[in-house]
Amino acid sequence: MTTTTLKPGIPYVISAPSGTGKTTICGILRKKLPALQFSVSHTTRPQREGEQEGVDYFFISNEEFERKIKDKEFLEWAKIHNNYYGTSFTTITAHTHKGRDLLLELDVQGVESLRKSDYPAVFIFILPPSLEELQRRLEFRGTESPEKIALRLETGKNEILKYPAYDYVLTNYIAEETANDIASIMCSEKLRAGMYTPTASDIQTLLNQKTNASCSPAPLKNS
Ligand code: 5GP
Repeated sequence: MTTTTLKPGIPYVISAPSGTGKTTICGILRKKLPALQFSVSHTTRPQREGEQEGVDYFFISNEEFERKIKDKEFLEWAKIHNNYYGTSFTTITAHTHKGRDLLLELDVQGVESLRKSDYPAVFIFILPPSLEELQRRLEFRGTESPEKIALRLETGKNEILKYPAYDYVLTNYIAEETANDIASIMCSEKLRAGMYTPTASDIQTLLNQKTNASCSPAPLKNS
């Protein structure tokens, strides 16, 4: 009989300049990896058409958000284009403590704050193929005014400069391929020696299994 210990789930943080295609990529990952959980952030920005409360975001008022900051309910939070966005501790631990991997979509400020606190996540950055393409995608989306698009492009340029803070950097030419690459990253991370699986006691259990061979390996020390 084998005993397995429940390992905490891995938080994956995905970040990209607005318009890079992060939401499309995450949508593909949702279908491809049904066991992967998605962190639902709190925000004070107005709900967009088609967005669902508790699925896309928890939409709350400024007052409530500031009360939550004061009560230290957020793992990280940021003010982006005059709106608050934040990830609550409850959302994260509800999944990772049950061994479920979790995907967080954060802006660069959120990543910086998690890096500063040595939060043990895998950080993935997605680049647009070019600035022209980024602008074209923002215009095509049709949700922002020309002034807001200009602001998002300017923010995007500063965000691109922060790429060294990440563990993985990908360029999104074709969303399906980028999602495949991210799924491969997730696969590799799960196989990291000593970090997630197998544990020293899993190895010890394996070595203790009886075989018909006449020579068996010595048991591991320090397990
Ligand atoms: P949008 O308003 O387009 O949904 O999101 C704007 C930006 O906020 C995106 O870059 C998105 O990844 C980021 N964002 C969403 N939720 C959070 C969060 O909880 N924390 C941080 N730091 N950024 C977030």
